[in-house]
Amino acid sequence: LSVNDYLRQHIRTVPDWPSAGVQFRDITPLLQDPKVFRVLIDAFVHRYMDRGMRPDVVAGLDARGFILGAVVAYELNVGFVPIRKKGKLPFTTVEETYELEYGSATVELHTDAVRAGDRVLLIDDLIATGGTMMAGKKLLEKLGATVFEGAAIVDLPELGGSARLRAGGLPLYTLVDFA
Ligand code: IMP
Repeated sequence: LSVNDYLRQHIRTVPDWPSAGVQFRDITPLLQDPKVFRVLIDAFVHRYMDRGMRPDVVAGLDARGFILGAVVAYELNVGFVPIRKKGKLPFTTVEETYELEYGSATVELHTDAVRAGDRVLLIDDLIATGGTMMAGKKLLEKLGATVFEGAAIVDLPELGGSARLRAGGLPLYTLVDFA
């Protein structure tokens, strides 16, 4: 069994959540089992500990990107910064608004979270339309940082988000695809 298939087996699919017709990919079982959690985190750490792949900073997307990103950053001995939904960060921020299927969302980042020239690894649990990850990339770039790669556990390639992100110049590393 490959690492990818092992992880796939521990992702739970919840039908019709949060709304009818949606197949929600629930990654919480990966975190709950200590052995699976370690395989998951190591899959990221082994990639980014190589020379040339080490980030200066890991940025995590609200909210499951915080869980993954913080642990990966700790293991790489680099700092972690959260990209949060609007209204949660106390200090001065930059913000980016993006379109959702219904309405829009705004994310924020502290202005001192990264420095110009930093090479940032951007992490979330899942890429669907790619809008969230693209907004995170734009926020980091507003502060002069470079996002050298985006990482997620799950990609939903049929929604086209990962292809759009890659076409827009963002390399991606994902562990499990769901059609
Ligand atoms: P996107 O912006 O359309 O790529 O959606 C990705 C964001 O929505 C990520 O922050 C995910 O946590 C969340 N998301 C969307 N669909 C799912 C799902 O099936 N499982 C878990 N998270 C999801």
